[in-house]
Amino acid sequence: MCGIVGFIGNEPVYEKIIKGLSRLEYRGYDSAGLAVIENNELLVRKCKGKVADLQNNVGSQVLGSTIGIGHTRWATHGVPNDVNAHPHFGENKNIALIHNGIIENYASLKEALIGRGHHFVSETDTEVLVHFIEDIRDSEQVSLFEAVRMALTEVVGAYAIVVLDQSNPDELIVAKKSSPLVIGIGSNDDYYIASDATPIIEYTKNVVYLNDEEVAKLNRREGLTIVNIQNQKQTPYIQELELKLEAIEKGGYDSFMLKEIHEQPRSIQDSFRGRLNLKQGVVKMSGIDDHEERWKNAGRIVVVACGTSWHAGLVAEYLFEDFARIPVEVEYASEFRYRNPVLFTDDIVIAISQSGETADTLAAIELAKEKGAFIFGVCNVVGSTISRATHSGAYTHAGPEIGVASTKAFTAQVTVLFQMALALAEKRGTLSSGRLSRLVAELNSLPIKITEVLKTNEQVEQIAQIYKNRSNALYLGRGYSFPVALEGALKLKEISYIHAEGYPAAEMKHGPIALIDENMPVIVIATEGASYEKVVSNIQEVKARKGQIIAIVTEGDKTVKAMADHVIEIPRTDDSLVPILSAVPLQLFSYHVAIMRGCNVDQPRNLAKSVTVE
Ligand code: GLU
Repeated sequence: MCGIVGFIGNEPVYEKIIKGLSRLEYRGYDSAGLAVIENNELLVRKCKGKVADLQNNVGSQVLGSTIGIGHTRWATHGVPNDVNAHPHFGENKNIALIHNGIIENYASLKEALIGRGHHFVSETDTEVLVHFIEDIRDSEQVSLFEAVRMALTEVVGAYAIVVLDQSNPDELIVAKKSSPLVIGIGSNDDYYIASDATPIIEYTKNVVYLNDEEVAKLNRREGLTIVNIQNQKQTPYIQELELKLEAIEKGGYDSFMLKEIHEQPRSIQDSFRGRLNLKQGVVKMSGIDDHEERWKNAGRIVVVACGTSWHAGLVAEYLFEDFARIPVEVEYASEFRYRNPVLFTDDIVIAISQSGETADTLAAIELAKEKGAFIFGVCNVVGSTISRATHSGAYTHAGPEIGVASTKAFTAQVTVLFQMALALAEKRGTLSSGRLSRLVAELNSLPIKITEVLKTNEQVEQIAQIYKNRSNALYLGRGYSFPVALEGALKLKEISYIHAEGYPAAEMKHGPIALIDENMPVIVIATEGASYEKVVSNIQEVKARKGQIIAIVTEGDKTVKAMADHVIEIPRTDDSLVPILSAVPLQLFSYHVAIMRGCNVDQPRNLAKSVTVE
């Protein structure tokens, strides 16, 4: 995953590097490092830990440089320590390189380079790449730009790299394949490089998204030159960024996660803005309208996704089958790609990814494409790799999600999938117009209802206080609420490090019930709807074994209230929309428990947001 930045221009770059890395820290925070050229000397500072640790490690020497690169790491090859931190040097310590991705053939390259007299100090694949580039430059007597290009023709794997050469303080070389990289073009011949646009936005709105297998040279005198790895010159396509600075700042909240939880009334609204026709009671989605016949005749939908997006996919399974009567399978992208999946040409594959960069999902898309399926992307990040690799798609429009644990992106994904199911139901004639209209109106009322749910914050905090020191938790739900139980458990695991499991409520008796005693909190989604009575029985089963029940119920509920230890009320809505409302108190519960346990909710240990490695 890793975050990379690079700056070259007329002003000192140190502050820009630190600020840029802080914005990218969601991508990894095992170590941080930077390299600058100061008085013709290449200076590298790097250390295990976060960007703040790097700041403490930097001497005043680097503060005046006008060219530099920075890296925040999510380790794939080699433990997080000072030596494995980026930037890495070549043999002669005059080239520094930062990298996001994995060089898959690094072992064979390393062996060959050792044979040619190279010495390695780290365990990383990245160090091999910088030695390889240096070796080509010196043995072939070519420019660094050309050496990078030549090296990449022999590299297998994924990379976004920036290379800095002491002998050329006027130039940065960048390249990418399968890992994201954007170049900002400022006035005054200033250039900005980053893994995403957030470090760039306050300096310029003009950006170039580098394509896969392109190599670019940013030179103070010559400007920007791009070639592909076959050495054909490319014309840069300059786009204007729509991102706003406020959207990537905390806006008065203590953490991005809390801010993003509270943004949900707006993010849900944004995810259906312009798509609902309340008068006619229908949903319009261009990604479906433009391929109407394909969708109408779809034999099956296969959802590929990872993590929270996979949970949104499970909700979609209920929605598509219920409303549009299309059979759905939901697959972990990482498993799908390594099976030999059976796909038919009338299958539609829906790929869900917040970042649009998830490596496993991207690989699943490529496999499905080879097999002739039509691919539809549901992504949050506009212009991301998955959104470009798919045949069609719908953005979730949730705005930047910086907290590593997904919150508003999940509810926006479910909102988009809900709309897709309604649009399909209309085209396939599987729902009456009355029911369609009611569902459209109900969706339209959700932002107000989420505002109501957010008012439970203090109550949820009090409940968290009681359970914060438990070692385990069980989450139960049925039907539409089963995926939410999984998502609730994942949220607790990832930010508070409490072991939690989500189960279909009725499955409890086939195993997990053995775990229930007076120390086990059981969080149950027990809202009114098709399986309400059944869930009530499941709650009785837990109570009979002295488990403690925290129930999410429909406002005014009396039955569950009488038997649960705590109830959190949410407004009444259609069964199919409950996941969007019930996810919110579960997010708040995890948030408060994690804060009370002293955990960093925005940057949970071992995790990173944009999983660009397999
Ligand atoms: N493979 C590199 C390392 O372990 C980069 C990791 C990444 O991009 O996640 O340092």
